[in-house]
Amino acid sequence: MEKVTKYDWLVVGAGLSGAVFAHEMHKRGFSCLVIDKRPHFGGNLYCEPYNGVLMHKYGAHIFHTSDKRVWDYVKQFLKIDHLGSYAPMAMSGGEVFPLPFNMNTFSKIWPDVRFPEEAKKKIEEQAKGVKDFDTLEGAAISQVGKDVFEKLVKGYTEKQWGRPCSELPKEIIGRIPVRYEYNNNYFSDLYIGVPEDGYNGLFENLLKGIEVVLGCDYLRSRSALDELAKRVFYTGPIDALFGEALGRLDYRSIRFDTKIRDLDRTQGCAVMNYCDKDVPYTRIIEHNRFAPSRKHQELVISMEYSQPYEGFAEPYYPVRSKTSEELYEKYVNLSKTVYGDRIVFGGRLGCFRYFDMDDAILDTLGIVEGLN
Ligand code: FAD
Repeated sequence: MEKVTKYDWLVVGAGLSGAVFAHEMHKRGFSCLVIDKRPHFGGNLYCEPYNGVLMHKYGAHIFHTSDKRVWDYVKQFLKIDHLGSYAPMAMSGGEVFPLPFNMNTFSKIWPDVRFPEEAKKKIEEQAKGVKDFDTLEGAAISQVGKDVFEKLVKGYTEKQWGRPCSELPKEIIGRIPVRYEYNNNYFSDLYIGVPEDGYNGLFENLLKGIEVVLGCDYLRSRSALDELAKRVFYTGPIDALFGEALGRLDYRSIRFDTKIRDLDRTQGCAVMNYCDKDVPYTRIIEHNRFAPSRKHQELVISMEYSQPYEGFAEPYYPVRSKTSEELYEKYVNLSKTVYGDRIVFGGRLGCFRYFDMDDAILDTLGIVEGLN
């Protein structure tokens, strides 16, 4: 006799992927129970007031996409306007440079460079000595030249990933965004926005009418939770599901140190990358700047310190390499053998891929379509 379960789906993780999945399944008439081990929903998009300023608790989140469907989808649930541009800066050797690497950066680093053709030539010349294109160092120098690499990529990347660039696989950062025009807009997407009221409203609306239990770790109460639902949509780390039996997937973690500063001690932009190796943090975020129409008494800043993924550290950035991708595939196959199609993996951790928010939404909508 088939067991009677209370829910069609147990959704593990109330982050963006879990919330979109639950919303779409609920809309199609399936019952869902959403759980999250954190005491709040929203995953890494969660926003929390700090001394009167709404801060992005898990790092600055800028919504950007060129897919109108995703932009319209989000706008159904969240008040967010197109910003037009987002321009973080980079500090190196006491000088400030614009990002992404564009003609403003190149002409500041190489004063004899004024036009795109000259910048391309300079990069080509500097890339001539590269022998190993498989390392991050070789791949980066071939894309931006040695000087930009030394000043703006090397120190930042080595702090971020905890290893020399010459030992990092090129897959970790993919292609570095390079723009051969005088344009400091970081993203070339059609839609860019940061909600003044934070992202929490997005989750309140997506999860309306759906049962949510917070502070509930699937791995701690697994057998009881499994009894409740026919199938599981799992957005946690896939290796944790198997007690890391085949090995541990590697991530980088971050420690956020939030502080109050006088308003006049601003760094002058929302996000500044600190590229020097001897500066211990990678970025400083000024949260006030995500709500420009509000009056604030003080500045709330977060410094981001990149950390190894050890002990109780949170997994943030998957460390992608051929070996880790193979290990991930082994876990997917193991899950198929043990659970068949009962467990469906989604999200940044379940898929072991760095997903921007628009990717997380699109990927989840694709999974939902495939199931219906
Ligand atoms: P998550 O947000 O990580 O949600 C997964 C949830 O699962 C978490 O809440 C976790 O607590 C829960 N969970 C895990 N294991 C269990 C368990 N055993 N039991 C119960 N619950 C569990 N994207 C952009 O588009 N723009 C940006 O500017 C941007 N900035 C970023 C900055 C940082 C520092 C980071 C790390 C990411 C950034 N991203 C950005 C990516 C963005 O955070 C992701 O796209 C988004 O969080 C993906 O949502 P998710 O639901 O897949 O994962």
